[in-house]
Amino acid sequence: MGGIALRGEWGMGEGMARDVPRQTRYDAVIIGSGPNGLAAALTLAREGLGVLVVEAYGVPGGGTRTAELTLPGYLHDVCSAVHPMALVSPFFRGMRLEEEGLEWVHPEVVLAHPLDGGRAAVMHRGVEETAAGLGEDGKAWLGVFGRLRDSLPGMWDDLLGPLPVMPRHPIGMMRFGRNAVRSAAGLVGSVFRTEGARALFGGNAAHSVLPLEKPLTAAVGVALGLAGQTTGWPVARGGSGAIAGAMVRRLEKLGGEVVCGWRVETLGELPAASAYLFDTGPGQMASICGGRLPGGYVERLKRFRYGPGVFKLDMALSGPIPWANAECRRAGTVHVGGGFEEIAASERRCWGEGVDGKPFVLVAQQSVCDGSRAPEGKHTAWAYCHVPSGSVEDHAEAVLGQMERFAPGFRDTVLATHAMGPGDYERYNANNAGGDIVGGVMDAWQLYTRPVARWNPWTTPAADVFLCSSSTPPGPGVHGMCGWHAGKTVLRRVFGKGPSAW
Ligand SMILES: Cc1cc2nc3c(=O)[nH]c(=O)nc-3n(C[C@H](O)[C@H](O)[C@H](O)COP(=O)(O)OP(=O)(O)OC[C@H]3O[C@@H](n4cnc5c(N)ncnc54)[C@H](O)[C@@H]3O)c2cc1C
Repeated sequence: MGGIALRGEWGMGEGMARDVPRQTRYDAVIIGSGPNGLAAALTLAREGLGVLVVEAYGVPGGGTRTAELTLPGYLHDVCSAVHPMALVSPFFRGMRLEEEGLEWVHPEVVLAHPLDGGRAAVMHRGVEETAAGLGEDGKAWLGVFGRLRDSLPGMWDDLLGPLPVMPRHPIGMMRFGRNAVRSAAGLVGSVFRTEGARALFGGNAAHSVLPLEKPLTAAVGVALGLAGQTTGWPVARGGSGAIAGAMVRRLEKLGGEVVCGWRVETLGELPAASAYLFDTGPGQMASICGGRLPGGYVERLKRFRYGPGVFKLDMALSGPIPWANAECRRAGTVHVGGGFEEIAASERRCWGEGVDGKPFVLVAQQSVCDGSRAPEGKHTAWAYCHVPSGSVEDHAEAVLGQMERFAPGFRDTVLATHAMGPGDYERYNANNAGGDIVGGVMDAWQLYTRPVARWNPWTTPAADVFLCSSSTPPGPGVHGMCGWHAGKTVLRRVFGKGPSAW
């Protein structure tokens, strides 16, 4: 497994000589080594089961890989960069991957949202501290986040669990639901008055990849805001590949095996196992299983919906980004898109007419807090916007233009760029269908009925086939919870045991 957390190179990988499994039979085979595939494997391996993970790409990690995409010595996160959900995840908390060398690094400022005229709204690790910077909306901000904070960390177990029919923390969930069931536009319209608070909340809600007028988009704004103001939005030192590296190291210590460079096409090519867990989209699972899954179930899987794609630009920079606002220079994440109405328009357009010159751009500047990402004095930037599914347009100019708008002189710092559009993301990893990075639309219907409405969504009608990817609840993000729930289901149903306490 040499070199996994290391730089790798985007473009190599598939087609490499593949490793060979050591055995012909395992307790469980996991197809795909994203954070959920590895979480499922770890859940089973720590109970003493024999586990094999098979990965199409040359290095494990799925959405958590780091590569020198631009120039030698500049480390870029190919997909995931900022990890609020890993810190609040009961799975990650229990696994203590810090013991495997994983180090979370926090920027001085969690998130900054620049506004025209050199102003910015800023989110700090601290609800009061954030509220204090929001002027006349400070009290309203405290009203949304202050009491919720008192329900943590327990409330994350409910939020990241199966459909919370019987929540274990009902008071927290009631407080959460009060704001979360609404649309972000509805909440912002009735709760906040200032441009700063409206933009700050709207930028967080836009991670839903939904028009901000849709129900439940406020939930994403509340959850990400809450995580940011309590545990933070850290990056992994050395790059997100370090997360996969730590997971694989732990798995190998527990006797698990990871085989790379093997794109699975049929179940028949895999070693025998009592359970097969798919860290793939539902369509791929159906195709690989062939006739093993009943036709009616496969038809329902076909109705699973994917949303917009992304266009991402990674940049090697000669220096830090010259944001006009000083707080933005200290932030790990910068939401670039102006006021709430502008962001909302951008998030509507990616569902239809496409990107105009002013997309909402999510920027991470990992090198402000992690010096290992670039040579001494140099920096990196990771920036993407939502675009229509499958879009083939080059949006680099729009992304650069939005950054220059709030950081005059920025273009002069760019030494090299590397662009990936929806097609590139789908070729890189078939789970990103049409460039969708959230494993399928996260609207009110598909939130808990991923991939179909089923009491236990990680199961399928075949007793030995399970889905563990972000196309199951609780959905996208590096939290490992989809894999953990699937793994626990397999433990109970196939092996008749529950997971040991941490
Ligand atoms: C551009 C981008 C930015 C993102 N930013 C963030 C962020 O900042 N923070 C965050 O928390 N999340 C972020 N995400 C989302 C996060 O990366 C995903 O939600 C997460 O990786 C999903 O994990 P997973 O295990 O379900 O699947 P994946 O990570 O997609 O892993 C699936 C794995 O299965 C493999 N595979 C697929 N088909 C086969 C096959 N037939 N045979 C063998 N292997 C196969 C793939 O190669 C891949 O390695 C981002 C994603 C992208 C693409």
